[in-house]
Amino acid sequence: MTDIIHGHCLCGAVTFEIQGPFKRFILCHCSRCQRASGSAHVSNLFCKPDQLKWLGGEDQVRRFDLTGADRFGKSFCTNCGSPLPHVGKDGSYLLVPAGSLDDDPGLRPQAHIFCANRAVWDDDSLERAPHFDQYPE
Ligand SMILES: [Zn+2]
Ligand SMILES: [Zn+2]
Repeated sequence: MTDIIHGHCLCGAVTFEIQGPFKRFILCHCSRCQRASGSAHVSNLFCKPDQLKWLGGEDQVRRFDLTGADRFGKSFCTNCGSPLPHVGKDGSYLLVPAGSLDDDPGLRPQAHIFCANRAVWDDDSLERAPHFDQYPE
């Protein structure tokens, strides 16, 4: 499979493409991911570092690695703060935030991890709450 999957940050300063396919699609509910995302979990795709090509704005990408953490890091646009792809500290993988993509990644979530650390409100109530296609009336 040789699909090209495009992505960009919210303000559009940073654009990139991924040479598919992705290998894994993981939803992480750990406390670090909750804090870094401001939400219940992050949705991360994984592939090899050489599958990424920055198309524009690479100089606007900043990386943050959490002091004392083996793995935790994130990259983001310095203008809008959107999460962007980054290479793992050991250089063995590329993490791509699923929400940064324009196209279907071709994979669907394969696992929820660190479920023991879920936010107290991250339970069945997420699905049970009424769904609206836009702002509710
Ligand atoms: Zn941006
Ligand atoms: Zn996590």
